[in-house]
Amino acid sequence: MGITKFSQKIFEFLAKLWYKVTTMSQKFQKTVEDFNCEHCQAVIKGNGYTNHCSRCLWSKHVDINPGDRLATCGGLMMPQELILEHGEQQLIHRCRKCGQVKKNKVSANDDFEAILKLMKNVSKI
Ligand SMILES: [Zn+2]
Ligand SMILES: [Zn+2]
Repeated sequence: MGITKFSQKIFEFLAKLWYKVTTMSQKFQKTVEDFNCEHCQAVIKGNGYTNHCSRCLWSKHVDINPGDRLATCGGLMMPQELILEHGEQQLIHRCRKCGQVKKNKVSANDDFEAILKLMKNVSKI
């Protein structure tokens, strides 16, 4: 007797939980798109997290928050340095148009040579 009511409660609970999870995950915008690097013309396969060219490491000023594509600037962002933060390598990009500086996580697909070059550049300065 009580069983159906009980399982109905569980169902309602799960439905609510599911709703919460799905609405929450919608806030994280994962934009999967391939793009042409405007700096080196490489075609970059997007995986939803890629926000810079994996060949030359240049990025484009299109996000205010990662993935939102809300920035109207659209300037090219030059990789400036590589820093280590919380045990993760982060690329520092500076927009050549508006000068905004952004941090971007180094992706596993990034060209190792390009990263090395960037490290060398930094040590030269
Ligand atoms: Zn590129
Ligand atoms: Zn900009």
